Amino acid sequence: VGGSPMQAVLMAPGVKDKKVLAFKRDALKEKDAVTALIRDVVAGGAGSAFHVFDLAKVVDLHRGWRRALPDVRPCYAVKCNPDKALLGALAALGAGFDCASRAEIEAVLALGVQPGSIVYANPCKPEAHIEYAAEVGVNLTTYDSEEEVVKVKRCHPSCELLLRIKAPDSGDVKVDLGLKYGANPDEVLPLLRAAQREGVTVAGISFHVGSGASRADVYRGAIEAARAAFDAAAVLGMPPMRVLDIGGGFMAGRTFDEAAVVINRALERYFGDLPCVEVIGEPGRYFAETAFTLAARVIGKRTRGELREYWIDDGLYGSLNCILMDHYVPRPRPLAAAREETTPHASTVFGPTCDSLDTVVTGYQLPEMSVGDWLVFDDMGAYSTAAGSNFNGFATSAIKIYLAYSS
Ligand code: PLP
Repeated sequence: VGGSPMQAVLMAPGVKDKKVLAFKRDALKEKDAVTALIRDVVAGGAGSAFHVFDLAKVVDLHRGWRRALPDVRPCYAVKCNPDKALLGALAALGAGFDCASRAEIEAVLALGVQPGSIVYANPCKPEAHIEYAAEVGVNLTTYDSEEEVVKVKRCHPSCELLLRIKAPDSGDVKVDLGLKYGANPDEVLPLLRAAQREGVTVAGISFHVGSGASRADVYRGAIEAARAAFDAAAVLGMPPMRVLDIGGGFMAGRTFDEAAVVINRALERYFGDLPCVEVIGEPGRYFAETAFTLAARVIGKRTRGELREYWIDDGLYGSLNCILMDHYVPRPRPLAAAREETTPHASTVFGPTCDSLDTVVTGYQLPEMSVGDWLVFDDMGAYSTAAGSNFNGFATSAIKIYLAYSS
């Protein structure tokens, strides 16, 4: 581990009080290392569903971000996965945070993060939450309506604003946030004027191309539109803007690398003459998605001819709500090493609640499994545990999180 970013992560609030299980990654492929760890945890007597959080993955992703987007400070979007160890790790690595509510701001401040490292990136906020932001010195928030300007002026007059604009061409995204947020091009001037009229400073422009953007070029058009809004503010005689917030939408892997190339070029082209502008991003999925793996236990079984039906102890009302809410495509794999003689069966996997909607996969090929066996779901960190419920008394929050790092 050494005197490295990992060392800092292991000492971070939210991490240092956890039992961290170490595993060697050198000899194994990443997935195999996590699988080996899950086997250890199960052999150690784990009785119900749990997530493995791979701290080394977050360190790698942070390094990857800094290498690809050296001029963009990542402000992790807490909503994606508010796990304390993940927040603590990112804080230790020097990330800022995007918070959507009072509770998210509280969680981040509790880690010792400075309020100046938080952007309150929710364009429509309850008054009590804005007043809380004022109390604790979180002084940067987004808006996309005149009403929000008036509210911010009333509840937190010294707060600065980022005007959230709609990304012009969001393309193929998992979740199109433009359906709900972002000023249309013809609304930009009136919204800048509204802030000017109220005497609230507009510090910059933000956008979000949509979560899980698969087309990298969407960032180019959005950065161009942001520059047009900077210029519009200058024409109105507003003080020069100093922040560009390029939002989230990033997916770890090839699409991130492609997006970074597009973003760097667009920043050079549209903001190259404004070197003092601070550029931030609000990645959620990028840091969380691939760092968490779910292991769920088979708690029931029914055989109907060739068909196999299994019940597991996590489902659509638990962390697998991401199937409904985030278009997650489950591809569960049995934890047990495949035995050659087993022929796969078309299988249905149900979650534990009594609702028939609580169905994880149907017609899915799995080897014969028994009650007490385990299924592993990869890439389970984004918009999963964050939105789980206690429906039927199955508590998402009861899921334990083990931590792992390579040594
Ligand atoms: N910022 C804002 C304002 C968001 O609403 C979201 C997601 O909903 C994010 C950032 C994070 O997006 P992603 O997880 O796609 O990076």
